[in-house]
Amino acid sequence: MGKVKILPPSVINKIAAGELIDRSAAVVKELIENAIDAEAKRIDVYLEDGGRKLIRISDDGVGIDAEDLALVFRSHTTSKLSSAEDLFAINTLGFRGEALPSIGAVSNSKITSRIRGAISGAEIKTEGGRIGDVRECGAPEGTQIEVQDLFFNTPVRKKFMKTAPTEMSYISDVLTRFALCYPNIHFTLRHNNRTVFNLPPVQEVIERIETFFGSELKKHLLSAFLREELFSLKGYIAPPFLNKANGRLQFIFLNGRYIKDTAIYRAISDAYHGKLMNKRYPIVFLFLTVAPSEVDVNVHPTKTEVRFRNKSVVFNYVLSTLKDALNKSQPKSIDIVTP
Ligand code: ADP
Ligand code: MG
Repeated sequence: MGKVKILPPSVINKIAAGELIDRSAAVVKELIENAIDAEAKRIDVYLEDGGRKLIRISDDGVGIDAEDLALVFRSHTTSKLSSAEDLFAINTLGFRGEALPSIGAVSNSKITSRIRGAISGAEIKTEGGRIGDVRECGAPEGTQIEVQDLFFNTPVRKKFMKTAPTEMSYISDVLTRFALCYPNIHFTLRHNNRTVFNLPPVQEVIERIETFFGSELKKHLLSAFLREELFSLKGYIAPPFLNKANGRLQFIFLNGRYIKDTAIYRAISDAYHGKLMNKRYPIVFLFLTVAPSEVDVNVHPTKTEVRFRNKSVVFNYVLSTLKDALNKSQPKSIDIVTP
């Protein structure tokens, strides 16, 4: 008798959820990515109990029709990829078709959606991965996803979640990153009927930087700019006298995605080398655009880590652009106006 079995989808999705969905902030990140991919101009996030009780995300994007709704909670279903070649030309935030099945497997969730211009909408529910039927219903244009009782059927994960304030700080970080990267989208974040953020759309990222980190920082920021054929960089970086005791204000965005990258962190610290006291960190906001053929984002399910085709070229671009910007800046003493 053979011992090897093909796992049922409910188990496969719980395994996938283990990698992708570790806490409520991960649900928020995945659902906001979906809304952005759906061309939303406004995204509202509502949470109860740090997301443990309820996460509700509404968008005004293109919507999902009834036929597609029947598929989205099933594993590896996506509208963003159709062939292996597409993997080398990714221009959406999602493409693995894993988020909704993973979230659905570890919560009680409901999606309600109406595509632009349709007369009515439709909804579908899943209870811990048991997917219900699509029902026609009234709905505003766009998509609303409600995720309740996260991890109710994975007690170890549930225990790992922290208090509501801790979960909210992770969620605020997620929202901050998206808000910096997509200044033209209106984001709101509410928790237990209290508004945490209300960020109407703005033209320039610098306005969002000011909203989050204050006008003092904004006033002193230097701009860094580079344009090459397959790589471009736009950055706002703080002069060395404005710095931090940790690296939390080093934001790197690549092709519309917040990423963490050791080579780029190293380029940043090399650019400021000798200008900062020990244990102080630069403040930078870097927006990189790289031809999709030059970068692999399919390294990990969360896609926060990427692999560059030529890491040392990227390192050198970032290092030299930041050095140039710092060299052009005025030393602090010139900024001080004495009465
Ligand atoms: P992926 O984003 O990798 O395609 P997901 O599981 O996150 O996979 O979503 C599955 C599919 O559901 C998407 O490809 C998209 O077609 C649809 N979808 C999900 N969220 C939304 C949304 N907010 N608006 C419109 N379509 C959506
Ligand atoms: Mg997705």
